[in-house]
Amino acid sequence: MTAFLSVKDLFVRFSTEDGTVKAVDGLSFDLERGRTLGIVGESGSGKSVTSLSVLGLHDARSTEIRGEILLDGQELTGAPESVLEKLRGDKMAMIFQDSLTALSPYYTVGRQIAEPYRKHTGASKREARQRAVEMLEKVGIPNPSLRVDDYPHQFSGGMRQRAMIAMALVCDPELLIADEPTTALDVTVQAQILDLLKDLQQQTGSAIVLITHDLGVVANTVDELLVMYAGRAVERGSVREVLRAPQHPYTWGLLGSMPRLTSDVNEPLTPIPGTPPSLLAPPPGCPFHPRCAYTAEAGGEVCRTERPVLPPGRGAACHLSAERKRTVFNEQIKPR
Ligand code: SF4
Ligand code: MG
Repeated sequence: MTAFLSVKDLFVRFSTEDGTVKAVDGLSFDLERGRTLGIVGESGSGKSVTSLSVLGLHDARSTEIRGEILLDGQELTGAPESVLEKLRGDKMAMIFQDSLTALSPYYTVGRQIAEPYRKHTGASKREARQRAVEMLEKVGIPNPSLRVDDYPHQFSGGMRQRAMIAMALVCDPELLIADEPTTALDVTVQAQILDLLKDLQQQTGSAIVLITHDLGVVANTVDELLVMYAGRAVERGSVREVLRAPQHPYTWGLLGSMPRLTSDVNEPLTPIPGTPPSLLAPPPGCPFHPRCAYTAEAGGEVCRTERPVLPPGRGAACHLSAERKRTVFNEQIKPR
C-alpha cells in the first residue's frame, strides 16, 4: 500500500549564475490522509523547495527534479502542467507565509475565493459567491456576507491569513501544504490559525504538511515530524518522540534556540553557532559537521567523510551511537 502522499528519493537542483544548488538531496517521506506532517528547519534547508516541487510550482526551466512524488497513487514528477494545474486548488492546495503577496490587492477577497471554486467546479458566479461567504464564515471572519466585498487591505493581517486559508480550502483539497502559515502573525492569532487548520482537518480528513522554522509551532499541531538540514532529512519520528528524546545534534540545537514556556524570560537562548552551508557546495560527510559539537564523540573523521543515513521510521542521520545519542541528550541538553 502506498501512502496518500509518498515522496521517494527526491532530488531537486537548480542552476544559478554561480553553479548548481542542491536544494533537496534524497528526501523520502510518507503522509496519510487525516494526518499532519511537520517539516522543520532553518531557511535554506529545502523545506519550501520541497513543497513547491510537490505542487509543481518550481521554475521548470532552471530546476531539475528526480525521484518520485506520488499523490493518491498518481505520479507528479514530470506530470504535464495541465495535469498539475487541475490538481492544484482542487486536490492539493497551498497556504503561503505572506498573505499580502498571495492575495491580489486589485480584487475583492470574495472574488479571490470564488474564482478557483468556479474554475474547478463550474459553479455559477452566484453559487461561487455564496461559497465564498460560507468559507469566510468557516474560517471565522465576522459578518462574512458584508466582508466578502472587501479588498485585502481592508482586512487585518490575521484576517488576511484566514482569507488565504479560505481560498486554499474552497475546493476541499485532500492535501494542504502550509508554508510558515503563521510566521507573520502575533502569538495569539498564530494559535487561532493553527487551531482552525486542525478543526478543518477534522471535518474534511485532509492531509496537511506544515512547514516551519519554529519547533514551538509544531508541538500541538502535527503528528509526525521531519527535521531538515541542508536539503536532507536528518531526523524523523512522531512529534512526541522527537520533542521528548531528540537524537540529532541539529535538533538539539533547534530546541536550545527555542524559548520554553516554563522558563523565565531572562533565560538566555542558545543559537546554533555558525550558519547553514552553501548548497552550491555542501560539505562532504555529514552536512552538519562544520557546526557540530559532537564530532569527536562520533569518531571525528567519519563525520567529515561518510554521509550518515536516516533509517526508516524513527531515527536520526548521525554517526553517534544510539547509546551516545541518548546519554548526551539526557545529561547535557535536557537539563539546560
Ligand atoms: Fe554531528 Fe557527526 Fe552526528 Fe553529523 S554525524 S550530527 S557531525 S556527530
Ligand atoms: Mg521557506
